Amino acid sequence: MMSEDMLERVHGRVAEYVGTLEGLKTINITYGIADHLMMPDGYVERLYRRGADLVLGSGISGGECAVFFTTSVIGRYEKVAPKLERIAETIVEGVPLYPVVVLDPCKLQLTEYGKTYAKSFALSRTLFGKVDLTLNLSRSAIRSMTAKELCDFASEHGFSWLTVNLAPTRQNYEATLGARAEIQDWLLEFAKEADARSIAYSYGPVMRRSLAATTINPGDFVINEVVFETTAKSLQVDHHGNIMFKAEAIGDVFHGERFGYKPMGNVEDGPIRPMVDVAKHKISRAIVQDHLKVPACRDCQYLNPCMMTGFHTYNRMLGEMGGWPKGDGCPHVAKALFNHYAAEVAAA
Ligand code: SF4
Repeated sequence: MMSEDMLERVHGRVAEYVGTLEGLKTINITYGIADHLMMPDGYVERLYRRGADLVLGSGISGGECAVFFTTSVIGRYEKVAPKLERIAETIVEGVPLYPVVVLDPCKLQLTEYGKTYAKSFALSRTLFGKVDLTLNLSRSAIRSMTAKELCDFASEHGFSWLTVNLAPTRQNYEATLGARAEIQDWLLEFAKEADARSIAYSYGPVMRRSLAATTINPGDFVINEVVFETTAKSLQVDHHGNIMFKAEAIGDVFHGERFGYKPMGNVEDGPIRPMVDVAKHKISRAIVQDHLKVPACRDCQYLNPCMMTGFHTYNRMLGEMGGWPKGDGCPHVAKALFNHYAAEVAAA
């Protein structure tokens, strides 16, 4: 939970920073990753109001601007429902608020979870207009649910968007990158199943976009352009006020200590704009290095699209935890997925 003081400082700095960006068409603010319904009464309303003020103060409007908050909606319906209703009452015109349900498949059996909390999911959809779902992949998570079961669960309860995260850190390395082959098969199966059923999910669009961008315009120029733009427009701030670059691989990954990177600065250090202007060059160089250190990446046909994503964070974590496999095999899940999407993008 962020202190009131820190919340004010972060929002002040971000509002000031948004004013320096040209051509910004939409603002999304996500408060994650904890269960916000478990926090003191009124906390989510305060978060939303600060986010809505930021959006409205920017002068940017449109259907895509929104504030999101994470929750598990776990709890008795009689307790959860009034909380959701009170939060929904604070919504102002022009800035929708959407819940993102955090699913922990290791702790919750999918069918039971669905049955127990179906009423809370339905109420959330009615109050907020849509509900998204997010989950972290690990060896035990994919053994707890098949890709098809997850798609069934998402369809049955009307989730609009699924963020599937693979976020390897020093602490969970064995359960994530250590289970590479199993997780890769699960991701491929999920991509096929979700696409066949028109379920919107996180990693498909970013991989298709990167493939399309480098097919049309190969080379360093377009990579720098994409990385600079992502650095400027995709930031994460933690509860200490650290500001970090956020990229997308299998879900969101960011340049923080847990991924082996230093934050680009802190809200206490001064305005965000100069930090971003310096950091974007360092980040671009780090991405190239995180790939070129890996033998398999140097000759990979997907090197350019891969450098536009957050997969470099997986390479770095592998390097920290003992090195990369020798030979030409991709050290993690990226190449199998690029192979999967490449034919489709080429045919488009
Ligand atoms: S797909 Fe794999 S081998 Fe290819 S550049 Fe990306 S990480 Fe390296």
